[in-house]
Amino acid sequence: MSVEIDYTADGYHPTDNPLKTGIAGRCPRCQTGHLFKGYLTLAPRCEICGLDYGFADPADGPAFFAMSIVAVPALAFAVWFQMRFETPLWLHLITTVPLTLGASLALLRPLKGWLVCSQFFFKAEEGRLVRAREKAER
Ligand SMILES: [Zn+2]
Repeated sequence: MSVEIDYTADGYHPTDNPLKTGIAGRCPRCQTGHLFKGYLTLAPRCEICGLDYGFADPADGPAFFAMSIVAVPALAFAVWFQMRFETPLWLHLITTVPLTLGASLALLRPLKGWLVCSQFFFKAEEGRLVRAREKAER
């Protein structure tokens, strides 16, 4: 499935900073509309400029980055907490586990926004083969 994106809609200046726009959860084209309709659910389209978010498919990217960012500090905290206080295992269930889950959940939305805005900014789409005939028609 291919979704055509109108990158040059009149009156809008697409973002030049997908990180900033994505973290704010704003539309990459008008930078005013909302990207999300829930915590992690993308809106079907921008309510201001009408950009169809059908092109957006960050897949597992936000989860991968959230896990990668949170894992090392969480493990370091768990080891430090264990070595420093010689805590029983159940204490990690009310300290390390909620800390890890909370940090991961807090990062998911801004990371997803960043990836969707980057996808728009870099005009990223699924790769496809261009046959010789199509090339000649261009
Ligand atoms: Zn918009």
